[in-house]
Amino acid sequence: MRSVSIFGVTGSIGEQTVDLLMRAAPGTYRVVAVTGGRNIARLAEVARELRAEVAVCAEESGLAELRERLAGSGVAFGAGPGAIADAADRPADWVMSAIVGAAGLLPGFRALRHGATLALANKETLVTAGPLLMAEAARHGARILPVDSEHSAIFQALAGEDIAAVERIILTASGGALRDWPLEALAKATVKEALAHPNWAMGQRITIDSASMFNKALEVIETREFFGVDPAQIEVIIHPESLIHSMVGYRDGAIMAHLGAPDMRHSIGYALHWPDRAHLPVARLDLAQIATLSFRAPEMARYPALRLAREVMARRGLAGAAFNAAKEIALDHFLAGGIGFMDMAGVVEDTLAAVEPEMGRTNAAMTLEDVLQMNHLARSRAGEIALRWAGTR
Ligand code: NAD
Ligand code: MG
Repeated sequence: MRSVSIFGVTGSIGEQTVDLLMRAAPGTYRVVAVTGGRNIARLAEVARELRAEVAVCAEESGLAELRERLAGSGVAFGAGPGAIADAADRPADWVMSAIVGAAGLLPGFRALRHGATLALANKETLVTAGPLLMAEAARHGARILPVDSEHSAIFQALAGEDIAAVERIILTASGGALRDWPLEALAKATVKEALAHPNWAMGQRITIDSASMFNKALEVIETREFFGVDPAQIEVIIHPESLIHSMVGYRDGAIMAHLGAPDMRHSIGYALHWPDRAHLPVARLDLAQIATLSFRAPEMARYPALRLAREVMARRGLAGAAFNAAKEIALDHFLAGGIGFMDMAGVVEDTLAAVEPEMGRTNAAMTLEDVLQMNHLARSRAGEIALRWAGTR
């Protein structure tokens, strides 16, 4: 029996992971830990359904409710960030890292310590602490498998190949909800408009990040860190149909593309069953019906996040942590109506400049503590900067 833990079980990726586990034959998996945020009712329900050893919620104030909801179930419980990290110390063969944001960092690092296979949906971990994470995995003989659809696609297109033969990695992007808007209109785009994603049904934040391409910017950095390629080898192409999830171009000119229905259960399932391919409950593509796949280059003026990602990759070290934190805060302020859609990139750019003096540490010297401190500092600077931007509107 395989033991599994799911961090962020009540989220979009977490629930889709649960869906796959529930379809497996009884006795296939033993669930160790499940963790959630504020939705304690759902956390307790999932913990009962999966017969987890332990369930942990993010906030200490949730403990009483969790205890009550788990009464008589035999599931142990805990609350707070410390308890979530402790849950990662319970050995499991396969661990899903699907907490959103910087809160997902620590459990991922702790899970690697017992040599688990870490299925990594939390891209923030690679963006903010990529070199540390990869070193930690190597130190403990642990394996990281990508869950982000683009990175799962790249991973699959690389199977059996020599990374030295790779010439380019081509990340596909839907272009988001506003891709066909006139450039001048973008400054006035509302939250509702940016949320109308053409292809993927995702959480609110990632959908806005898709329209601004901050999500793609994170994914470019994620690609650089996970696959260890040179930033110049990474390209982004808009592919409105979202059926090619990404591509790898080799030095002989061949391009390997990964196609599939836009359903995250594909990449979650691939990571769950790797190196095998199991039957997955995802739609099959009818290529004759689809008929056309189209592509276009992203306009840099429309997607300043892509330019900022290049700057972050050139800087490396703590720049990733500053970028991710600033993006989070800028997004909060856009969602709250304080700043405009295009102002998000301005806030991030100004924050990167503001924390530049604190970015002293290089990759080799930086620690997880430095990353968490930079996250904290950049969030507070970005907050001040966003308020200043809001004041000028
Ligand atoms: P989500 O918001 O739907 O779920 C996040 C989970 O984390 C929930 O269980 C939530 O309760 C929990 N959580 C939130 N804040 C927390 C905190 N402070 N401490 C502990 N737990 C907390 O997010 P999601 O869409 O499932 O995304 C999860 C991760 O996967 C993100 O890093 C995202 O970028 C990445 N990802 C998501 C998708 C997708 O299709 N949803 C695709 C690719 C990558
Ligand atoms: Mg993705």
